[in-house]
Amino acid sequence: MNIALIAHDKKKNDIVRFATAYKNTLAMHQLYATGTTGLRIQEETGLDIHRFQSGPMGGDQQIGAMIAQNKMDVVLFFRDPLTAQPHEPDINALIRLCDVYAVPLATNMGTAEVIVMGLERGDLSWREIVSGE
Ligand code: PGA
Repeated sequence: MNIALIAHDKKKNDIVRFATAYKNTLAMHQLYATGTTGLRIQEETGLDIHRFQSGPMGGDQQIGAMIAQNKMDVVLFFRDPLTAQPHEPDINALIRLCDVYAVPLATNMGTAEVIVMGLERGDLSWREIVSGE
């Protein structure tokens, strides 16, 4: 499955810890991330990640483009709800597209954990049928 990882700056330590905890599961999938998030996870876990642009420079939109082609199966997005983001419209567009294509989306670590546990159990294999892979 194709999994996108995104974290706002104050959530980057959290996503690195999360990726470390679930490294073995994540390693079985194709991983994508916005620029800085991907670099941090790559450096600290050794996971192989395709990195897009940094979020404010268009990374969220690049991930959105994959969703629009139904090529993204899961989005794990550790949002910072307490800090204004310059690219808020891009963030909203990404979340909207997840809803358009029924892509499982976590916006915090609690839900991300449930989704990854579901991945481990095969609960998300319906995505393979929907995306035709
Ligand atoms: P970044 O982008 O991983 O490049 O920091 C994330 C974001 O701010 O949307």
